[in-house]
Amino acid sequence: MDGVMLTELGRALAESGTGNAEVVRDLEARFAEFCGAAHALCLSSGTTALISALRATGVQAGDQVGVSVLGPSMTGLAVAAAGARPLFLDCASTSFGVSRAAADHAIRAGVTAVVLIPMWGYWDESEHVLGAFREARVPIIVDAAQAPFLRLRKGLLTVADVACLSLHGRKPFKAGEGGVCLTDDPRLAERILALRNFGQAAEFTGSRLDPTGPFAAHFGVNLKINGLGAAWCLSQLAEADQIRSRFDDLRQVGMAAFGDTGIPWAEASQSADVQEHGRYGLVALCPSQSEARELARLIEISGVEVDSSRYKYRPMYAAPYLARFATECPSAEQLTATVVACRLEAFATRLENGG
Ligand SMILES: *Cc1c(COP(=O)(O)O)cnc(C)c1O
Repeated sequence: MDGVMLTELGRALAESGTGNAEVVRDLEARFAEFCGAAHALCLSSGTTALISALRATGVQAGDQVGVSVLGPSMTGLAVAAAGARPLFLDCASTSFGVSRAAADHAIRAGVTAVVLIPMWGYWDESEHVLGAFREARVPIIVDAAQAPFLRLRKGLLTVADVACLSLHGRKPFKAGEGGVCLTDDPRLAERILALRNFGQAAEFTGSRLDPTGPFAAHFGVNLKINGLGAAWCLSQLAEADQIRSRFDDLRQVGMAAFGDTGIPWAEASQSADVQEHGRYGLVALCPSQSEARELARLIEISGVEVDSSRYKYRPMYAAPYLARFATECPSAEQLTATVVACRLEAFATRLENGG
């Protein structure tokens, strides 16, 4: 354990490790700075960050919420946990971005919000799709759980009303369990804070929001982050540059491993607006399903965990609980059958063995 981490853990312990400890406020200030957000609010998980973002943007029980079908079941489950029904949005052909037809359909269906997911760190949403949601006044939530490094030239928060991160132990920044809501909108920040802090109203005190006043002024429960996890995460943000360059090294090793198989592949596309990739995974698109299978097989033989060894990458409605919401998403079926997706962390052993 390094010195920074011990200091932060000591501070958190001195405040009983609660979610109102100063160390949590410091973590929020660092995330706001790191992600270029006016407000960062830490929560108990990426899931509770999503639920809070959904509720704060006005989603109510029985509503429909558009969800990018290429995301993980966790995102659809968060929508269901907020009492809403996911309406799956098909992707554009060979892209992680939502198709224009799917966006138009969702708007006609009257979705109250949409959740876009830069899956594996790839952001490829088109201006047309974003513009259509904006014009229809549909709030946009970006589930950036896998993309803490994602930066858009115009700023992610000019696109997203709220962006959510996960601090789960398998994500690049870890609190064990934890999540973050990022927003530039002070009204949304106040709502999220109330939802997380037993309904307490918030007061802007100079540079940050502080919970003030009595409990249950609004609806809210306890969705606070554990202060000990926050302290651990704070020590990682102090070395964000090292984490960034480690992921860059992992990516180089991953690209080489894919290349060594001799199977033809191209990397999944990203929007020209992307300044920095989200850095969670590496996604190879193969010309056919059989080539994708062979690529996955060869990578696995080389000792690297690919998607198929932990779970098969499939459209979100492949999960039994979410099947009841299934819609036809032919592009997503095609894309998931021909991609090989890998967490960059899966290449860690190779990196340590010298690539
Ligand atoms: C991990 C993840 C979640 C869930 O986050 P938790 O912190 O585990 O609740 C949601 N969405 C995406 C895209 C994820 O990768």
